[in-house]
Amino acid sequence: MSTPLRAPTVEPWIVPGSRETALPFPLRVRRGRLEYADETSADRTPSGVLLHRGLRSLPEGRRGRPRYQLVHPARQRAAMLDNLCQICGGPASVVPELGGTLFLLIGHDTRAEGAITLRPPLCAGRRCARAAVEECHEIQRRGHTAVRVRSPLVYGYSGRIHAPGPFGRPVYRGEDLTLPPGHARSRWLLAATVAVRLQDCTPVDLAAERRAA
Ligand SMILES: [Zn+2]
Repeated sequence: MSTPLRAPTVEPWIVPGSRETALPFPLRVRRGRLEYADETSADRTPSGVLLHRGLRSLPEGRRGRPRYQLVHPARQRAAMLDNLCQICGGPASVVPELGGTLFLLIGHDTRAEGAITLRPPLCAGRRCARAAVEECHEIQRRGHTAVRVRSPLVYGYSGRIHAPGPFGRPVYRGEDLTLPPGHARSRWLLAATVAVRLQDCTPVDLAAERRAA
């Protein structure tokens, strides 16, 4: 008999709430690529990747019920690009003497070197580390590997691939990809989240780190 999964008690920063509803995103096809009908310069990365406008962002306490199965696109991107903890939204743990920035991968003994992840880093706070390890259902099922990463590098963006449809409307046929900027299919990508490649990794024991702190 399997152990029942523990109900989460923490609302991770990158998890959207039920009141954080979708922002309008009027997509269309022009000049052989995906774009917004009312696009502004804030809608694309400097390399030209179209960003998913995502969900409204409300302050903590006003977000409604956490939707644990989803990721808030703007907060995931901020966590990856600004090195923020996926659980509390504060600064991630970066300790050069211990190997760099703290990341958690799904699965026991997962090979971290060169891995591409959509899971933002963590701070070393007891509450955040405990929530990430003990309350993530996927980690409860498959275990985890904690690593410190000296060189986390933005690899690309992940999201839905669209195709030109009738009347200049794009269609989504269920294909989701993670692509580096400049990839030929990037012009059809609605980029929801940032993917980071982990380089110069050192496996760590979170409990031992806490005991030594
Ligand atoms: Zn944290």
